[in-house]
Amino acid sequence: MDQGRLIVSEEEIRELVVRMSGEINRYYGSREGEPPVLVLGILNSVFVFLADLVRKLTFDMEIEFIRASSYGNAFDSSGNVRILYEPTVSLEGRDVLIVDDLIDTGHTLDTLSRYCREKGARSIASAVLLDKFERREVDFKPEFVGRTIENVFVGGYGLDGGGHFRQCPAVYSFSKKSPTL
Ligand code: 5GP
Ligand code: MG
Repeated sequence: MDQGRLIVSEEEIRELVVRMSGEINRYYGSREGEPPVLVLGILNSVFVFLADLVRKLTFDMEIEFIRASSYGNAFDSSGNVRILYEPTVSLEGRDVLIVDDLIDTGHTLDTLSRYCREKGARSIASAVLLDKFERREVDFKPEFVGRTIENVFVGGYGLDGGGHFRQCPAVYSFSKKSPTL
């Protein structure tokens, strides 16, 4: 498979996951007598990062998923986030940690945070591995960020390009004109 420019290597991803998991573990503490944290991964792209991250978290948790789409088959976020699949447990009174691989315009996390609040979550925090902050269209700041990246379209580590590339262990940039790289 022909790849574009390396943006985040496997080794750097490992380091970012370790640092973030330490921060998240400190944030939630021991949680004695509290209900398990509800970790909410945003499908599809989060599956690789979520699997790495949760195995380094030490507090009691339940893991659920939500599926949202703002891309369709195009490459630019429409700002119109559709919820395609909802968690199967109630969010009422829960401490929710929303996890995504990448924040771009911010519409997805902003919309899903509001969704969690409307469903009665007691607290909401979010964790993203990568932040394309230059592209932000809404004022949204995740509590936990791995690192910022430049404004390029990326694939790998769960992120797809035209449906491909999710299985690649590192993050690469690639041309929007060649989504099947
Ligand atoms: P936002 O709503 O913040 O604009 O977009 C967030 C979602 O779009 C994330 O779930 C992420 O998977 C996807 N996304 C944002 N930038 C990229 C990118 O460069 N490549 C891919 N494959 N997905 C992206
Ligand atoms: Mg995604």
